[in-house]
Amino acid sequence: GFNCGIVGLPNVGKSTLFNALTETAAAQAANYPFCTIEPNTGRVAVPDPRLDELARIGKSIRKVPTSLEFVDIAGLVRGASKGEGLGNQFLANIREVDAIVHVLRCFEDDDITHVEGGVDPVRDADIIETELMLADLESLEKRQVGLQKRARGNDREAQAQLELMEPLLAALRDGKPARTAVPKGQEAEASRLQLLTTKPVLYVCNVEEGSAATGNAFSEAVRKRAEAEGAGVVVVSAAIEAEVSQLPQEDRTEFLEGLGLTDSGLDRVIAAGYKLLGLRTYFTVGPKESRAWTITAGTKAPQAAAVIHNDFERGFIACETVAFDDYVACNGEAGAKEAGKLRIEGKEYVVQDGDVLLFRFNV
Ligand code: GDP
Repeated sequence: GFNCGIVGLPNVGKSTLFNALTETAAAQAANYPFCTIEPNTGRVAVPDPRLDELARIGKSIRKVPTSLEFVDIAGLVRGASKGEGLGNQFLANIREVDAIVHVLRCFEDDDITHVEGGVDPVRDADIIETELMLADLESLEKRQVGLQKRARGNDREAQAQLELMEPLLAALRDGKPARTAVPKGQEAEASRLQLLTTKPVLYVCNVEEGSAATGNAFSEAVRKRAEAEGAGVVVVSAAIEAEVSQLPQEDRTEFLEGLGLTDSGLDRVIAAGYKLLGLRTYFTVGPKESRAWTITAGTKAPQAAAVIHNDFERGFIACETVAFDDYVACNGEAGAKEAGKLRIEGKEYVVQDGDVLLFRFNV
C-alpha cells in the first residue's frame, strides 16, 4: 500500500488530525511536545462517490473502498538533523513514507505553547525543510565517498549514481530541496536514493474553527509558498475534524453545513494525498461487491490485476473494460456491451482512472 507521513513541529495539531483521520484514540493528543513517540499507522478509506454509483447500478451487496495509509511521525524540532529532539529516529521514519503531509500551525492560542515562540507557518515550514535538506546532504555526502572509490575502479553503476547525485548535492548545498534538481526522466532513479526532499509534499494548514471555510492570513502565506514550489495545500481545522469524527455519519453533513463547510477537511486531505502520490483508481463490479483498487499512473493491465491477486498477473489473458462514464450512461455492463462501449484490452493496456474492469485469466 501507499502511505503518507504526517510531520510538523510539536503542538501544531498532528495528533489531533491523525486521530480524526483514523477515528481512533491511538495517538493521544496532548499539549506536550513529545507526546507521539512511536510512529502510529492508520488505514483510511478513500471516499469516492463513483463507488456508490457503481454499487447501485451493479446491485452489489457491499462496497469496498480503496484505502490510504497515514503514519503519525513523532515531533521534529529545530536541530533534528544534529540529533535534537527525536532527531534521527524521526528522519528514519520519514524515509519510509511515500509522501509527506506537513501540518502547519495557522491558529493562535495562547494556552498552547509554540516551540518557536509565535505563530509563523512559513518559518515553521522552512525549519522542517532545512532539517530534511541537512539530513539529505549528510546522507549523500556519506555515500559519495564509497561511490567515488568504486567509480575509480570503473564501476559503471557507481559512476551513474555519482552523476545523478551531482545536481542534487549542488541544490542541497545551495539551500534548495533535492526535488528541484532531479533531471527529467530520472525520477525513478532519484527516488531510489531514498532522500527526504524528493518526496512530494502536501501542506495542511491547521486554522482556528472560524477560518475553516475561508482560510486566514497565515494559510494564505502558506498557499503562496506552496504554489511557488509546486506543493499541494489544504486548509482544515483539526479541532472541527476531531469533532466531526465523533459524530454519527448521518449527522456530519448538517454539522459541517452549519459551519459553512461543504465537505469534511479530512476528505480533502485524503483526496489531496491520493493525488499527490499520483494514484489512480479502477473498479470491479459484481453482485457480491463493488470495489475500488489503487494503482499508480501508467500501470498496465496485468500489473493492475496483480493488485487483486498475484495469480491474476501470471495468468493474465485480457480484460473487459468500460470507462466509468459509459458504465453509468449505459446503466451497467450489459448496456455498455450493447452500445459498443465495452472494449477487450490486452497486456499493454494502460489502465485509466475510473475504468471498470473484468479480468480474464488462466489459473
Ligand atoms: P502535535 O504535537 O502536533 O501532535 O499536536 P496535538 O495534536 O497534540 O495538539 C497540541 C495541542 O493543540 C492540543 O492541546 C490540541 O487540542 C490543540 N489543538 C490542535 N489543533 C487545534 C486547533 O485547530 N485549534 C486550537 N485552538 N487548538 C488546537
